[in-house]
Amino acid sequence: MKIDENTTVAVLLVAAGRGSRAATASDTSPKQYRTIGGVSVIARSIKVFQDHPRVGPVVAVIHRDDGAAFTEATGEAGRDVATVPGGATRQASVLCGLEHLASLPAPPDIVLIHDAVRPFVAPSVIDDVILALGDSEGAIAALPAIETLKTETENGHIAKTVPRAGVWSAQTPQGFHFAPILAAHRAAAESERSDFTDDAAVAEWYGAAVRLVAGNRDNVKLTTAGDLASADRRLKMEALMHMADIRVGSGFDVHAFVEGSEVILGGVAIPHDKRLSGHSDADVAMHAVTDALFGALGDGDIGSHFPPSEPEWKGAASRIFLEKAVSLVQERGGGIAHIDVTIICEAPKIGPHRDAIRESLAALCGLAVERVSVKATTTEKLGFTGRKEGIAAQATATIRLPFDDGAADG
Ligand code: MG
Repeated sequence: MKIDENTTVAVLLVAAGRGSRAATASDTSPKQYRTIGGVSVIARSIKVFQDHPRVGPVVAVIHRDDGAAFTEATGEAGRDVATVPGGATRQASVLCGLEHLASLPAPPDIVLIHDAVRPFVAPSVIDDVILALGDSEGAIAALPAIETLKTETENGHIAKTVPRAGVWSAQTPQGFHFAPILAAHRAAAESERSDFTDDAAVAEWYGAAVRLVAGNRDNVKLTTAGDLASADRRLKMEALMHMADIRVGSGFDVHAFVEGSEVILGGVAIPHDKRLSGHSDADVAMHAVTDALFGALGDGDIGSHFPPSEPEWKGAASRIFLEKAVSLVQERGGGIAHIDVTIICEAPKIGPHRDAIRESLAALCGLAVERVSVKATTTEKLGFTGRKEGIAAQATATIRLPFDDGAADG
């Protein structure tokens, strides 16, 4: 078969297993629906193939009781995936999936059969399996055996050492020209053979030549509760490493009192016998927080992003400034870890409004309120704040950026 951009490639994800070996006391759901690193195993597997440019439809063979579990576990990724109820064995389930593909108006040229519990298959391995089908009816991802192999006696002793040269362990995906693998599976079912543990074994039995393609070591079959736990740990650690460029910025601002009836601090209006004067709404606390974020990003300050010379910012709600700084953190792929602001004035009293200010800033920054600190102090009647001429505020912001963000290399 000539493999080119017109070759159609379908994927059959085998996900009908009950996964009893992975059950824990608290979770007996099938392992393909468990979450590792915040995303279900099956959604990860689907996404690898959906993101692959050569792969067309993805079909999942699932247990007939698992429709709701599938929808819940796959969300957005699952919407374009047709599901087919499986059979009593893995082999029977694959045949159900193949018959579904055969019933389509245009069955695929090639089918890749993949265990849903192997979410770490490398895209390059998928490419290699597809390419190998250019001169072979079947091709599977596999790894050469690296450990010394033994067979055992009935009493648990070694019977003998098996030469490992030329011995491979089979992974998935296992790719086949569609028509012959369908014929092989149908013939196996008709012969009442139900003991094949992979699809290559069905093809071999049917007389097809199946090529071995080097798989990737990460492409493990998540089988036990321990496998799931260690994959979960690894993914969480990778996410943490990815956001390891931690930066702290500081901000400082002052606004003077003029005649008025309230001040706005951190987006909260506080009754007072004066107001703060400024080009915008003069929210001195929010300005300090915003400049702290710009500082953490190393990206100018409020004045450079919103020049006071431009009349459109006159009387503007300061939340516009803060929202801009927050969106710049997000655009860099980062997140805010913590905000700490100190408001410096003799009056008004901040204490009664502290929680409202925390909640207001937390909402604007997309943070839990526990990650926002608001403190207040006087200056013991010293200086301009002591003379009640205005309010000062200083803030620090801690943000996390991706470790590969340019300047991290320096
Ligand atoms: Mg200001």
